[in-house]
Amino acid sequence: MKTLGLIGGMTWHSTVDYYRLINEGVQKRLGGSHSAEILMLSVDFEPVERLQTEGDWAAMGRLMAGAARTLEKAGAEGLVLCTNTMHRLAGDIEAAVRVPFLHIADATAAAVKRAGLGTVGLLGTRYTMEQDFYRGRLEKKHGLKVLVPDEPGRATVHDVIFKELARGKVREDSRRAYVEIIAGLKRRGAEGVILGCTEIPLLVKNKDSPAPVFDTTALHAAAAVDFALG
Ligand code: GLU
Repeated sequence: MKTLGLIGGMTWHSTVDYYRLINEGVQKRLGGSHSAEILMLSVDFEPVERLQTEGDWAAMGRLMAGAARTLEKAGAEGLVLCTNTMHRLAGDIEAAVRVPFLHIADATAAAVKRAGLGTVGLLGTRYTMEQDFYRGRLEKKHGLKVLVPDEPGRATVHDVIFKELARGKVREDSRRAYVEIIAGLKRRGAEGVILGCTEIPLLVKNKDSPAPVFDTTALHAAAAVDFALG
């Protein structure tokens, strides 16, 4: 089994799920008392959130590259960055280490294509919904058509992530708001919706949603298990 290096803490509420899902996946595949070999570097999210607001991606790139190097030096054989948004810095991480980097959008796109879908909605932080690093990868590398909510919808999705989910608050009214937004994406042609922020699965599950959802936390964790055991 290969040792996984997790860059976590963005936020810790979803990193907990990564840790659990990866261990459950290994236990299920190997049986007995098996569990995953994991190194984790979990950051303080407050300064990261501030740098995101300021748009200082260069500083965050240095932070992520440093975390990746630390994990590689400690023995990680593959890296898992436990957040969609910070994949904007995938290039900085890949340039800093020699071990493979398991990109969350690739794991997600593979699942969308396995399900036979071509047009998907994307929910996430504003950075993920509005910038090119994530949508562009889904569209150009994987050939998917990606729809995002309108401006008020994007504001709601973003604010719920930072003001509630990132602080461990799960509210029924926010779940209803998300379900409305997903219904709007479905009306515009989305055959499914990518929960492209690792905290959203804490709020919305398949059973709540008018369109099938793709849980990026679970899909990324499953890809990590495949890598560790592959
Ligand atoms: N975990 C979130 C994501 O998947 C948001 C936190 C962050 O901004 O890194 O995008």
